[in-house]
Amino acid sequence: MRPELAAKYDLRVPRYTSYPTAPHFAPSIGADRYAAWLGDLAPAGRLSLYLHIAYCAELCWFCGCHTKIARRYDPIADYLECLWREVDLVAARLPARMSVDHVHLGGGSPSVLTPGDFAATLDRLRATFDIVPDAAIAVELDPRTADRAYIAAMAAAGVNRVSIGVQDFDPLVQRFINRVQPYEVTAAVIGWLREEGIDEINIDLIYGLPHQTVRSLTKTIDLAIGLAPKRIALFGYAHVPWMKKHQRMIPEEALPGLEERWLQYESATRQLTGAGYAQIGIDHFAAASDPLAIAQAEGRLRRNFQGYTTDAAETLIAFGASGIGSLPQGYVGNETDIAAYKKLVRAGTLPTARGIAVDDGDRLRRGVIERLMCDLSLDLDALCAEWDADPAQFDGDLASLAPMEADGLIIRDGRRITMTEEGRPLVRAACAAFDRYLNRDGIRHSRAI
Ligand code: SF4
Repeated sequence: MRPELAAKYDLRVPRYTSYPTAPHFAPSIGADRYAAWLGDLAPAGRLSLYLHIAYCAELCWFCGCHTKIARRYDPIADYLECLWREVDLVAARLPARMSVDHVHLGGGSPSVLTPGDFAATLDRLRATFDIVPDAAIAVELDPRTADRAYIAAMAAAGVNRVSIGVQDFDPLVQRFINRVQPYEVTAAVIGWLREEGIDEINIDLIYGLPHQTVRSLTKTIDLAIGLAPKRIALFGYAHVPWMKKHQRMIPEEALPGLEERWLQYESATRQLTGAGYAQIGIDHFAAASDPLAIAQAEGRLRRNFQGYTTDAAETLIAFGASGIGSLPQGYVGNETDIAAYKKLVRAGTLPTARGIAVDDGDRLRRGVIERLMCDLSLDLDALCAEWDADPAQFDGDLASLAPMEADGLIIRDGRRITMTEEGRPLVRAACAAFDRYLNRDGIRHSRAI
């Protein structure tokens, strides 16, 4: 991308893993409303489950997740017990014992659990829900805290996809983000996963980190490709020290500037697609045979809180402090403070702290934004025909995209728009044109690139 355009569209816009986005959730949606929504679900519907393990062994300074550092296991065991209680609280409010075809354990670091507790957690879920035999069971893994026994426990529990946090292999970068993780540690864990029969392996990388250069990132990506993962996620580091205070540990002068960030993204994208990975949306790369690449080719790609996904479930139930669930009626967010979360669960209350109900107008706009994020193109006449809605309602939004069109980032043909290859990384800025909540509450977001 031309550097002047990278600067011009350096907007701070949402990542659009939901619509409306989380900053617009309000405390008016609480436990009672969530309980009613759960009770009204169609008993034959399929669920997707997300379990948030809100602890890590050490704090990475770039981290944007909700997590807490635990030096001892007691708080983790205590938290896990509450998580199980929350599972029971939710199950008691569902209209039936429901089927589940996606389970995702994230955090924090699920690998802070003991192998026994990991296995017990999956047993607990299987006792409560009908997890279908071919369910996708995915886990985020910090190689620094995963040993052979943990990986064996994951395999025995039916885990079939693992996302490995790497970020960057360069020792200098690792030091400046407080995440020292030698290449050999990551490679050993991947070897154990394969020996245990878990071959669906993702590697998560980040660009825009302190002291990262195009050259160092190229080396990191070479090493990552050499480990032959099925998917690679490449996220831009979101420096938001006003929200995540520990990011102040990262010296701002060590961060690459906007132009350098763009060069890193561009070079990494070329390298990954050159190695045969299909680019999925803005920040994922998948082997051609991977379900994510196939879903994108067939127009079935979806986007949820985990990013790009093949998960088409209409209901995502999230457990754990800060978990965000998505139901046909709206979104719900759990209490983020771990102590408050535990207290509510122990009192037998759903720990819902905020949320938002969605109406048909929101659902339509969510569809518009999701298609644009996933397909990098959008046919508003066709989409509105599916929804029995008037496409003219978007004409003002389309008109606001004229500057992006004039700059060659978007091609517009009537009510059909397509991001150009140069415009692809700025798709979030294009989606923002359709976001009727944006800029209402003076909320700050991360950079578009
Ligand atoms: S391991 Fe992951 S969740 Fe934990 S501090 Fe590091 S980046 Fe954050």
